[in-house]
Amino acid sequence: MQNWQPDSWRAKPILQQPAYEDKEQLAQVEQTLSQYPPLVFAEETRELRRQLSDVSMGKGFLLQGGDCAESFDEFNAPKIRDTFKVLLQMAIVLTFAGRCPVTKVARMAGQYAKPRSSDFETIDGVALPSYRGDIINSFEFTPESRRPDPNRMLDAYHRSASTLNLLRAFAQGGLADLHQVNRWNMAFVENNPLKERYHDMARRIQDTLEFMDVLGINAGNTPVLHETSLFTSHEALLLNYEQALTRTDTLTGKPYNCSAHMVWIGERTRQLDHAHIEFFRGIHNPVGVKVGPGMEEDELIWLIDALNPDNDPGRLTLITRMGADKLEQNLPRLLRRVKQEGRHVVWSSDPMHGNTFKASSGFKTRNFDAILSEIRQFFAAHEAEGTHAGGIHLEMTGQHVTECTGGAYQISDDDLAEAYKTQCDPRLNADQVLEMAFLVADHLRK
Ligand code: PEP
Ligand code: MN
Repeated sequence: MQNWQPDSWRAKPILQQPAYEDKEQLAQVEQTLSQYPPLVFAEETRELRRQLSDVSMGKGFLLQGGDCAESFDEFNAPKIRDTFKVLLQMAIVLTFAGRCPVTKVARMAGQYAKPRSSDFETIDGVALPSYRGDIINSFEFTPESRRPDPNRMLDAYHRSASTLNLLRAFAQGGLADLHQVNRWNMAFVENNPLKERYHDMARRIQDTLEFMDVLGINAGNTPVLHETSLFTSHEALLLNYEQALTRTDTLTGKPYNCSAHMVWIGERTRQLDHAHIEFFRGIHNPVGVKVGPGMEEDELIWLIDALNPDNDPGRLTLITRMGADKLEQNLPRLLRRVKQEGRHVVWSSDPMHGNTFKASSGFKTRNFDAILSEIRQFFAAHEAEGTHAGGIHLEMTGQHVTECTGGAYQISDDDLAEAYKTQCDPRLNADQVLEMAFLVADHLRK
């Protein structure tokens, strides 16, 4: 890789970074982190890259989801477990009802840094630095809390390590056993209006498992029925942290960012000549880039050139976040151009970030109908252009929150206050995710 170093991003312009006051302390933290064990192993990221390569060829589907921002305060086992369960439940609906292999990537174990629309937040005439995610500062509106603190990177590392540890235990230690999943999912959907549809599917899975048993296909020894694989991802926004966790893989001699299996660049920091593209072009993980409605066709090709010069399928996922009212005008022209140029990418839909607005009650929210509409249009555009609708990227939680309006329970503007818990963007709750899962599964089966 020409002229690339883990720190070559430092010579480029960079947006959305904290203004750390104590540079010496910052350097010390980076030094400490660079000595810590990696959070993921390079070979695991290569496995994800292989799976995404299949997805880019039309042979699978990427399911990526989790919090907008993880929080230090809500760092506990039930919360991790419930998000894991929703992801797995959605994956099962997609696999079984959609007849499609699913690659699961959590927005977890490192999703701590947030881009903001403004550097400052003003409340009652007092202006303080914006909250930028728990890896940088704290949500509380006081000067002390909002001061960026490098030590938070160490806290984020440790929390990511224990989150990952629990996720690995859940994935391999029995919770993800298909027989179990079928059982716990029943209770999970007890109050959901789609309960019958879900139960019907669960019964068919149960029948299939029993049928396999009768045939002597020994379910007891078939790992695929007893465990699952779950990868981690986050927006690699705070490059001091990401660089410190970048290591040379001993097997291949190549640099990998070992803070997560997959990392992505946000819509606000993907300028071609800026630091994030520079950092990302040198790491060998599978990477993503958010693509908003303003993306020009040429610009997208340059971006692909920069991040995937060898046109390696599985390396690059384009996460489109257009907005339900802008997709039709903007996605087809990009699909057409990328196809015309023969570039291999995974096309994934983030139906959340183009559909955010402020409710009359003052909450930042998203309407579930707009989210579903963006997904329907995403599938329709791919069908029309002959490209593969390869994945979905969601902000969601397993907790019972009321943050997005609409859905089967018809959450209204006035209901938002009931359980509005996010520190950042509004998330889908478990019921809304299930509803969406059936919609996506129907499209996958077509
Ligand atoms: C996000 O994924 O939380 C986010 C900030 O998205 P985007 O970069 O697409 O705005
Ligand atoms: Mn968000």
